[in-house]
Amino acid sequence: MSDNSQGTWLINLFVVLLCFVAAGAVGVYVDEFWLCIALVALILLGLQCWQMLALHTWLSHYKKLSYPHNVSAWGLLYKDIYAELQKGRTKRKQLAESLRTFKSGSEALPDATVVVNQHHEVLWCNRLARIELGVTWPEKTGLKITDIVRSNEFIEYLLARQFNTPIELPSPNNPQKMFEFRVVPFQDNNLMLLVRDVTRLTQIEKMRKDFVANVSHELRTPLTVINGYLEMLPDAAELPPLMVNKAIGEMRTQSLRMQNLIEELLQLSRIEASTERVFDKVVDVPQLLWQIQKEAQTLNREKHHKLFFDIAPQLKVYGIETELRSAFSNLIFNAIHYTPDKGVIEVKWQLNKDAARFSVKDNGDGIASKDITRITERFYRVDKARSRKTGGSGLGLSIVKHVLTHHNSSLKISSAVGVGSDFSCEFLPELTYLPDSHNTAQ
Ligand code: ADP
Repeated sequence: MSDNSQGTWLINLFVVLLCFVAAGAVGVYVDEFWLCIALVALILLGLQCWQMLALHTWLSHYKKLSYPHNVSAWGLLYKDIYAELQKGRTKRKQLAESLRTFKSGSEALPDATVVVNQHHEVLWCNRLARIELGVTWPEKTGLKITDIVRSNEFIEYLLARQFNTPIELPSPNNPQKMFEFRVVPFQDNNLMLLVRDVTRLTQIEKMRKDFVANVSHELRTPLTVINGYLEMLPDAAELPPLMVNKAIGEMRTQSLRMQNLIEELLQLSRIEASTERVFDKVVDVPQLLWQIQKEAQTLNREKHHKLFFDIAPQLKVYGIETELRSAFSNLIFNAIHYTPDKGVIEVKWQLNKDAARFSVKDNGDGIASKDITRITERFYRVDKARSRKTGGSGLGLSIVKHVLTHHNSSLKISSAVGVGSDFSCEFLPELTYLPDSHNTAQ
């Protein structure tokens, strides 16, 4: 207690004593000593009650920045209470500020975050958790996380409390999405769940596994054939020459298949990794298509299709020549392969409004609509045996797709089984190059 407040208390005590001494003196004088003392005690008690009422009123309407001026010891009480209240107010402000910072920080988290108690009831969650997991907090109280993520695997994971490794589960709202749940236990058995969308990662991982499996399978088949024939070789002297020739021919076909597959794989990875800019060089597409036309005629010797090439001789595009050659030849050779003998195949390279358009139309096998959506996937073949016979690796359309994406274009496929197919693509007017539009032959 300070000297100042000690003084105030002493003065107060002195005033009270003085009141009683004065009352006693008056009481002796009027011969009513006890009455006067009781009167003074009553007045002092009334005054204290009034002061208490004032304090109560002040406390219940405490919004003011100051406290009432009071010279008595009550003034000291006001001052101390006011100081305590101010301290509390500053603490509350700091707390509210920390809460605001924490809230905005948690909203900025890239993960959906949910805090649950030991009974797995939601105590708090961020906005992402409401969106991604559908957590209806704070609307619903006592909501359990196991009512939102209902999978048995998740429930067992929570109960086992082995949180060293995260768990991957499909989203409770959208089974197409894959989420990784990471659980961090903290204070009083509470748990913090950090939920991250790993759909893309899982897809990439699946693609990688499928890719390795497919490549291994594609390479193993011709190798098995070659090995089979090689095992026969020690006895080659005893075998009829016709059989030996057949074996050598088959081994050559199979090794060419492997070579073809590896070349296409390399081509695909080159396109994927390519940093070449498509708008630097002009590709003489008519020249390129005339070369492919010659190759197509050679390929067509056995099948006797009618091949029509309708090429605008001036129409060029900005792009990468090797890539475009690969895309166009894949589409044209596919038409030859997948059209029964004596079919009709039309190749067009024309200007459509301001955009260069390439198309290959055949009246061949056609493709079912369920396959059209998957046909550009790596190694996807409608009829595996048929495609192998043509030497196809199942990578051709995948290469076409990548090349066109690299050239800001896309492959359009319209096809009907037994009627034929039409593969086409258009190049942006910005990539279309026409030195003299009047000379463009139609
Ligand atoms: P492949 O090397 O097997 O030809 P592609 O990726 O070029 O692989 O083609 C994938 C599949 O699409 C083929 O196996 C074939 O079934 C189908 N396909 C491609 N082009 C045609 C076409 N013009 N007509 C019918 N089917 C086609």
